[in-house]
Amino acid sequence: MSEAVFEVPAPAPKGEASEALYERARRVLPGGTTRGSIFYRPHPQYAAAAAGCRVVFEDGHEAVDFLNNFTTLVLGHRHPAVMAAVRDQLDRGNVFGAPTRGEVELAELLVERYRTIERVILTSTGSEAVMAGIRVARAVTGRPDIAKFEGGYHGGYDHAKVSAMSGPDDWGDEFEPDSVPDTAGIPESAVREVHVMRFNSLESVERVFSRAEKKVAALVMEPVIGAGGLIPPADGFLEGVLRVCHREGALLLFDEVITQRLSVGGAQELYGVAPDLTVFSKVMSAGFPIGVLGGRAEIMDAFDPTVAGGPLVYHSGTFNGNPLSVAAALATLRSFGAAEIEHIDDLGANLRAGLEDVIRATGARASVTGLGSLANVHFTAPAPREYRAVHTADRSQLEAFHLRMLNRGFMLATRGLASVSTPMGAAEIDTLVSTAHDVLVEVGDPHA
Ligand code: PMP
Repeated sequence: MSEAVFEVPAPAPKGEASEALYERARRVLPGGTTRGSIFYRPHPQYAAAAAGCRVVFEDGHEAVDFLNNFTTLVLGHRHPAVMAAVRDQLDRGNVFGAPTRGEVELAELLVERYRTIERVILTSTGSEAVMAGIRVARAVTGRPDIAKFEGGYHGGYDHAKVSAMSGPDDWGDEFEPDSVPDTAGIPESAVREVHVMRFNSLESVERVFSRAEKKVAALVMEPVIGAGGLIPPADGFLEGVLRVCHREGALLLFDEVITQRLSVGGAQELYGVAPDLTVFSKVMSAGFPIGVLGGRAEIMDAFDPTVAGGPLVYHSGTFNGNPLSVAAALATLRSFGAAEIEHIDDLGANLRAGLEDVIRATGARASVTGLGSLANVHFTAPAPREYRAVHTADRSQLEAFHLRMLNRGFMLATRGLASVSTPMGAAEIDTLVSTAHDVLVEVGDPHA
């Protein structure tokens, strides 16, 4: 293969309808988008409808959905049980200024399913659940700061938007990374209250905790780094982290927004590590907005408004416990058990193995990370074990890979993430892999 130049990522996606919609969007939405993570150049394709594992775009063509709204749609689109539950709720009213039977049933189901959880509170998004987790950790420990891993994405809250996207120019020391705001508008005071560690390095965890001098209320982490490259923990890493947190008097919060799909009891069950607090969102409601913070009663009862003098932490929200989302969540969790997880995990293993084969066959300098029903292609090799290697991989090749896969009918995340949903079978995996082969021949650069 000849030396390739990757300045132009790919031909523009075909589609006059999407182009026209994007032109209109540019006049009324900044840059034509309201969701940075789904924007790509020259313009995104606009979805019109979906069923099972297929999405139809406004332009009339369709794609197999391996994006699944960033791993949200474990049951695919419009799962019959979820649709029936939501329609039933819609017929009875979509929101009330009163609690519903559904929220009690959902809380009971979560408490039954996760042995670390005795109480839950509900929110509308993952970000809000993380925010509540940080707040309650501060309230019960009396400490001001939090810790997180470089490349760990936990949503839109100020303290979560630190060092999720830092780069070589500003990420600092190998073991004690600098705390870098991911966007303008984050107060310096918030940045100072966040201690950043390197994933898969217990030495980094130890050093940063020691420097933080017992100011850390909670370490917020994904058991498997998601947006930062889909990287599983090294053997013993999670156990080590839990040990250090507890020795230092900090709570451990597992953000299982993506990893909940890895087993019926989430990543905490898979790895046998019991966090103090857990956040769920994406996976549990088939795409309807919901977030959950759960944990032991002794922590979560800080939200109890019935105590004398009022709750230690006040929690409310117009859409908390939203009946449509709750109905969707109950139906999703009841339809997503061990058999479904085994099915998507088997397909996921074939997907990763197939991608590794075509990377070898084409000589592309690329690799695959992931586990269970999740995979991520990286244009670097060997496979990254933490965020810095992910961040410094070849971005223009990734961009080219994403657009060319889309143009051939496969929807992935721009960052190379693919997730499997239950309506998929061997045919979807095999065609993705053979298409990836052809795309790698075009964009993979064996000389890099
Ligand atoms: N945590 C993780 C691990 C996530 O992937 C996300 C969303 N990408 C969030 C938290 C924030 O969730 P939301 O976008 O629903 O606020």
